[in-house]
Amino acid sequence: MNTTPGSPVASDRPRILTGDTPTGRLHLGHYVGSLERRLALQETHDCFFIIANVHAFTTRATQFDEIRSDVLEIVRDYLAVGIDPQRSTIFLQSEVPAIAELTFFFSMLLGYGRVMKNPTIKDEIRIKNLGDTYPFGFLLYAVGQTADILTFRPEAVPVGEDQVPHIEMTREVARRFNQVFCGVSDQVADEDHLDKGGLFPVPRADVGRVARLVGTDGTNKMSKSLNNAIFLSDTAKQVQKKVNKLYTGRQSPTDPGDPNNVLFQYHDAFNPDTARVAEMRELYAAGGIGDGDVKKELGAAINTLLEPMRQRRAEYEGQDDRVLDILRDGTARANAVAEETLHRAKQAMKVDLGPRSLKFQ
Ligand code: ATP
Ligand code: MG
Repeated sequence: MNTTPGSPVASDRPRILTGDTPTGRLHLGHYVGSLERRLALQETHDCFFIIANVHAFTTRATQFDEIRSDVLEIVRDYLAVGIDPQRSTIFLQSEVPAIAELTFFFSMLLGYGRVMKNPTIKDEIRIKNLGDTYPFGFLLYAVGQTADILTFRPEAVPVGEDQVPHIEMTREVARRFNQVFCGVSDQVADEDHLDKGGLFPVPRADVGRVARLVGTDGTNKMSKSLNNAIFLSDTAKQVQKKVNKLYTGRQSPTDPGDPNNVLFQYHDAFNPDTARVAEMRELYAAGGIGDGDVKKELGAAINTLLEPMRQRRAEYEGQDDRVLDILRDGTARANAVAEETLHRAKQAMKVDLGPRSLKFQ
């Protein structure tokens, strides 16, 4: 593979695309829902990771300074987790113009009613208390996400469960584009679209080990925006403090406890000592162990997972220029793929005037 900074990555590995919105730092939900999967796929696939800063403006347009610093924090989180910028491409959405162009074209392939029926959009409006005050761009982001993905023509998208409706919409756009502009029959199976002349693969959602990690409120999905997250960059003390505050409603250590409450959901997700978890679960249900002990072991298990990340993260603390260079190199590589997709899409739609050449940085 060619790893010269800024040059296109020549790889015949199958491609994946996924990413994060810079609305805060990454948390344990991201780890089990998507990041862990990305680490594994980095060994076998050509990985593209988008930092979706344009989407962050849908809910935080006035907080542009924070969006900027969250972009850097998320790159640091990626590096801390073990994403290797020599092998994987980390890039900034706003600096890949082909994505915005494809968003406009794709918005013609999806009905307004179809977008509004997307349950993730409805959930986000409810959970984030957006009422009817959200900007038009908030709805457009759902279409934009289909372009984020298809621009890179990936075979799969590693995501948490909440994103599956977005991937379903993306699959619809891919099918529709291939049928309308590439002459693929509507009888063709999803996996045969490329062989039958389609431009876009019909990508599948690759849902992580824990599809939906609950937040520290014990109710909602752990989310950057809901103040219910344990962040990958939290200190050991902060982690234990958040764990200690988890509410179980149990009055005394001798009360029979719910062995599937948030404490045990987290133990299942983060404690590799499954025999000990099974033992604690039994004791807990019988009123033989207190919340305090279960929380202490949980905090320790999470900190064991996070400690190597803290150490890797420390190498990039205060190194904004180095982090930005990684993002610049990745964005240049992403643009090489994106421009090729856009050119081919425009040819299919008969709107092109021949290849174009934009100069990036
Ligand atoms: P926001 O509150 O801004 O929506 P978020 O915490 O939901 O932030 P996203 O950037 O929307 O994070 O999601 C990034 C990826 O992480 C997506 O693939 C999403 O499905 C996954 N993910 C986010 N939260 C969880 C969770 N609690 N459990 C499993 N996967 C998750
Ligand atoms: Mg989200």
